[in-house]
Formats: sequence, structure tokens, C-alpha cells
Amino acid sequence: MTKKISFKIAECECGGIKIKVTSKLRHVMNCHCSQCMKTHGNYSAYTACPESQITFINKKTLKWYKSSVFAKRGFCSNCGASIFYKVNKSKNICIAAGMFDNPTKLKTTANIFVKGKLDYYRLDSKLPKFNQNSR
Ligand SMILES: [Zn+2]
Repeated sequence: MTKKISFKIAECECGGIKIKVTSKLRHVMNCHCSQCMKTHGNYSAYTACPESQITFINKKTLKWYKSSVFAKRGFCSNCGASIFYKVNKSKNICIAAGMFDNPTKLKTTANIFVKGKLDYYRLDSKLPKFNQNSR
């Protein structure tokens, strides 16, 4: 019997950043903090996995922006896609869920940092919400 090897591919609009993820992805959380709002142009929808499970197929346009003393954000310097959020001390990396193609088999399970939510949209009332992170 052969072991089934599954992986997911994610890439930005221009393909300058393309990754292969070999681990299971965390469920998606929508983050409404002001930094996500400003860097994504809307709230963010992030999945996550251990950084060690990401292989870069292409990263020639990847740039990092130090968004705080404890975290950085990865984006494409060509097409402008906001792709990664990485807490410096964490082994995990957050990946914008929109980088993947269907079927993602992911589910949105929470809204976090809802204090930063702007007034032009509504939250799904069926999802739990947190003023900070869900952990
Ligand atoms: Zn790009």
C-alpha cells in the first residue's frame, strides 16, 4: 500500500510567491485588528501551519514588513498581495486563506480582535467572536 501524500499549493496574484504546504492547515480566523484592516484593505482571513511545513516554489517577490515589535507581515512586492503574518517567536505562520484554490476544505471558525471592526460590514452571528486572539 502506498501512503497518500497530500499537499496544497498557494500563490499570490502574479505568482511571484508560490508555496507548497505539506501539513494540515488550521481553520480560518477573520482578524479585524487595525493592522490587518490597513494591510489587507479589509479584515484578514488567515489559516496557519507550522512554518517548517512550507516549501517555497517561488519567492522572488517576497518582502517582509515589520508590523510590530513581535511580528512581521509578508507581502508580494510585485502584485501587492498580503500573504503572511508571522509572530517572531512562533513556530507557526499564518497564511492568507485567499491564496489557495478550491476546494480549500477550510472553514471560518472565529472572528478575532473584533474591537477593531469597522462599521461598514456585519459579522456572522453564528461565529464566536473574541476581543483579542481566540487562545
Ligand atoms: Zn505577486
